[in-house]
Amino acid sequence: MSPATDLRIPRSLWDRLVAELHARTEGESHESGAFLLGHTTEQGRRVTDVLYFDDLHPEVHAGGVVELPAAAFRTLWAIVRERGVQVVADVHVHPYSAGQSWIDRKNPLIATRGHVAIILPNFARPRIRRWSVGVYVYEGDHQWQALGGCGNRLLVLETDHE
Ligand SMILES: [Zn+2]
Repeated sequence: MSPATDLRIPRSLWDRLVAELHARTEGESHESGAFLLGHTTEQGRRVTDVLYFDDLHPEVHAGGVVELPAAAFRTLWAIVRERGVQVVADVHVHPYSAGQSWIDRKNPLIATRGHVAIILPNFARPRIRRWSVGVYVYEGDHQWQALGGCGNRLLVLETDHE
C-alpha cells in the first residue's frame, strides 16, 4: 500500500468525532484521542468506526498527554480482531497548534509504515477547519511525512449517502 493512500471518512462520522474529542478534553483540561478503525480498499483507507482512548484505558490522559500502556493495546487488538477491522489511523488533539510534539514523532502509537496520525488544534474546539488539521504519515524509523494544511489531499471527508 502506498503511504500516501487516501484516508476517507464519512463527514457525519468526522463531525461526531471532532465534537466528541472536544467533549472528552473535559473543559480543555487535557488532550483526548481515538483510534480510527476501518478497511483498506482500492480507493484507499476508509474509516467506519472510532475507538476513543479513554474508553480503552480510562487513565490515558492522567498526565495531560496521551499515554497508553501495553494492556490498552492488547484490548485494542482484541477489539480489532473481533470486529474484523483494521486500525487505519489515530487522532488526538493538541492545546494550540496541530504540529507534532517530540513525543509524537518518537513514539508512533502504531509503528507501521503508512500509518496515519492526525492532530486537531485548539483542543478540537469548534469550528475545526480541514486545512488546520495536522496529517502525518509514518515512514518508519521515527520519520514522518507531513501532509496536512491547505494542500491536504490525503484526508477526504465523504458526503454521506444512504
Ligand atoms: Zn501530541
